[in-house]
Amino acid sequence: MTDKSSKTDNTGAGFATRAVRDGQVRTLENEHSEAIFPTSSYVFSSAAEAAARFSGEQPGNIYSRFTNPTVRNFEQRLASLELAECCVATASGMSAITATILGLLQTGDHIVSSRSIFGTTTVLLNNIVAKLGIATTFVDLPDLAAWEQAIKPETRLLFLETPSNPLTDLVDIAALAEIAHKHDCLLAVDNCFCTPALQQPIALCADIVIHSATKYIDGQGRCIGGAVCGTNDVVGEGVYGFLRTAGPSMSPFNAWVFLKGLETLKLRMHAHSEAALQLALWLEQQPQVKKVYYPGLASHPQHELAKTQQSGFGGLLSFELHGGKAEGWALIDATTMLSITANLGDTKTTITHPATTTHGRLTPEERAEAGISDGLIRVAVGLEDIEDIKADLLRGMV
Ligand SMILES: *Cc1c(COP(=O)(O)O)cnc(C)c1O
Repeated sequence: MTDKSSKTDNTGAGFATRAVRDGQVRTLENEHSEAIFPTSSYVFSSAAEAAARFSGEQPGNIYSRFTNPTVRNFEQRLASLELAECCVATASGMSAITATILGLLQTGDHIVSSRSIFGTTTVLLNNIVAKLGIATTFVDLPDLAAWEQAIKPETRLLFLETPSNPLTDLVDIAALAEIAHKHDCLLAVDNCFCTPALQQPIALCADIVIHSATKYIDGQGRCIGGAVCGTNDVVGEGVYGFLRTAGPSMSPFNAWVFLKGLETLKLRMHAHSEAALQLALWLEQQPQVKKVYYPGLASHPQHELAKTQQSGFGGLLSFELHGGKAEGWALIDATTMLSITANLGDTKTTITHPATTTHGRLTPEERAEAGISDGLIRVAVGLEDIEDIKADLLRGMV
């Protein structure tokens, strides 16, 4: 857990500077790169000091389930980038969402969530959170009136991802925050696709920002991790309280990898965005392609909102072929470079067929309602040369 008082002093510094420097506390060795602290516990100088630490009278490290200097360094840096008072790191993106819900809600509370969220989050809400007596109503992401209508007296939390995956719908975060606060609800944004380099939900009055650090924060597909950012009250008390007791903690090694990821985050996100825009414009020109979904395109129905809400359009796009599943699979199988994997946020470009993978558990009717056609292909654009990505996609466009 971190708070403002323990940040290193880069007050007034820009985003890229804070991404490189915030949160580091050098040891007596004066190392330049951040140190990794692979230790489960910490030694006290006396029984009295141990007692003072345990009672909370004296701040400091106790046990790495909830206090580790490398993890703290990552938390402080991400909090700074998300403009949050506080950040807690978690073992995965899913445990960040779990810690948010179980740390802040109780039986009888209600959640309103976007329907277009990460598949496992839907399963978490429907199968695990529901079992605890916390029900969820799902609404269409862009439809502000639907969000407000779904709010009940017992609603505590609104939850969403924007842009959505794979169809890149957006919601106006500031407008939804106003609705949330009018009804005494917290607004939580899973900011995995944009990262704070492209979108800072707290500046738009969201209360909680959630991350799967596994994606762009790592940026090179190595580690699983997550984080929750927000105020000292909400995240520093509620979410941290759950985490320190339930224990889905981030390992110091993973925290160190994510720290290194944050240092290049802005550079990478702008490179991913530039490549994705070029690819989207090119795909729109291909006769085999019926439609391209990318917020950076003038043809995107929420292009204007994307321009004001985000400082880049991100690395994720999808496109619909004139054909169906056979043509989709043929295109994917003809690629020789792109990775056939559902992960994203990697330097390596990935390609998937949502209808038979990430959305394969839905019925055909549910898929149709969600807009996931059999000819839909999702690409998470990496950092290879754009001409090589185009050439690889062309192999299967017959
Ligand atoms: C991957 C992902 C998650 C889950 O994160 P893990 O690190 O895999 O647990 C949550 N939300 C979004 C938007 C994701 O893409």
